[in-house]
Amino acid sequence: MNPFEYAPALESTSIVTIADRYKLFINGKFVAPRSGKYFPTINPATGKKLSEIAEANSADVDLAVKAAREAYVKVWSKLSAAERGKYLFRIARILQERAREFAVLETLDNGKPIRESRDTDIPLVAAHFFYHAGWADKLKYAGLGDAPKPHGVVGQIIPWNFPMLMLAWKVAPALATGNTVVLKPAETTSLTALLFAEVCQQAGLPNGVVNIVTGAGATGAALVNHPGIDKIAFTGSTDVGKLIATSIAGTKKNATLELGGKAANIIYDDAAIDEAVEGIVNGIFFNQGHVCCAGSRLLVQENVQDEVLAKLKVRMSHIRLGNPLDKNTDIGAINSAAQLAKIKELSAAGEAEGAERWSPPCDLPPAGFWFAPTIFTGVSQTHRIAREEIFGPVLSVLTFRTPQEAIEKANNTPYGLSAGIWSEKGSKILWTASKLRAGVIWANTFNKFDPASPFGGYKESGWGREGGRYGLTAYLKVGK
Ligand code: ADP
Repeated sequence: MNPFEYAPALESTSIVTIADRYKLFINGKFVAPRSGKYFPTINPATGKKLSEIAEANSADVDLAVKAAREAYVKVWSKLSAAERGKYLFRIARILQERAREFAVLETLDNGKPIRESRDTDIPLVAAHFFYHAGWADKLKYAGLGDAPKPHGVVGQIIPWNFPMLMLAWKVAPALATGNTVVLKPAETTSLTALLFAEVCQQAGLPNGVVNIVTGAGATGAALVNHPGIDKIAFTGSTDVGKLIATSIAGTKKNATLELGGKAANIIYDDAAIDEAVEGIVNGIFFNQGHVCCAGSRLLVQENVQDEVLAKLKVRMSHIRLGNPLDKNTDIGAINSAAQLAKIKELSAAGEAEGAERWSPPCDLPPAGFWFAPTIFTGVSQTHRIAREEIFGPVLSVLTFRTPQEAIEKANNTPYGLSAGIWSEKGSKILWTASKLRAGVIWANTFNKFDPASPFGGYKESGWGREGGRYGLTAYLKVGK
């Protein structure tokens, strides 16, 4: 045994109580689904069942939408903006008080390391509520007109990679701008949304302002197609985003779509290489690579490729994969069997198409879903691993010789969500950023998020922005 091995440092799970079964949250109460159906939710790190979740059908969605409409008409639209803001501040404070409980539950249900749920996800969740609480009574100063009006009832559908954070990105601006919501969490990660329903009760939020309907794609489709919804906000795959865009075409429904990505992380030869290597690791291995803005295409200047790859391999050999509840863990479990199968299939395609695969020696736990951190070198732009979103801890390495070539390669994708630039020259960073077709561009850093900073994509990465002043426009009838 390595004498310098870390001792296990397990986070206790005693702070969370998981019920055997969860109902739907409609009109301020937990109600049994009309469908009568429940489905299991498991811990992806062990494969063990955690609980059962209600599966909402269209009758359940209809009840939730009606509750949201009634709350909008009778209560929420009549409150002063300052009163609305108070509820958001209250929710934000409760989230901070219960932060550890949310972090542990998120890690159990999602498989992400406790270090990330505790230090990134949940603090950002609270920050989003605080930030938007502040906007509630200042909307007329946002440069969006004298008295911008909300849409009314908003349907929100979120993915499993950042369950609580995506909830916060959706619910906080919607409520701050005066909308009421029906939210559908992803089918593999509903537990923290249901704990958030308890927070809404604890904060005394008026009944029906937030409703949570659980279920899979059919539940999401019922929400999208419900005639009582004024606006859809969706984060998820580009395929489902296209389906949603098709379903709402010809209706008056407004939509924001935050979809996939295949971000280029560009390393110029004048970059601080050690820092860039940290940025590469953070860019692709953060949250198991289950990140739509992940730096999944490394574009490294050819003359520093050998140095970058040598250092990256050493760094990757120190990544700790394993029990997500261990505070030393860097890479946790893949969220589901389906996602693991997708990562394996695309990685196999990378090998079959001729790229060279490398992972550090890495023991994978026997139960649950796991994938070792992996890089592919010798990748060409036509390879599937350079074109398709893998949504896993897999990096495709490509090279370039000139800045112009870096731009062309970076933009050679149907996506345009994010990008990274590493250089010590500010002018080169600004020149590169101005040429990249990506919504978020990080310079000498990666995967940094802030509620004041808008987030969203070009091309097939989506419509609209979330966060900051721009994000407010998504929830207001601006210019109407
Ligand atoms: P991912 O690849 O991130 O799982 P999905 O787009 O499949 O992305 O899922 C994101 C969210 O969209 C989940 O909450 C899922 O249940 C929901 N969803 C899946 N299919 C549909 C659909 N046809 N209509 C509406 N929502 C859907």
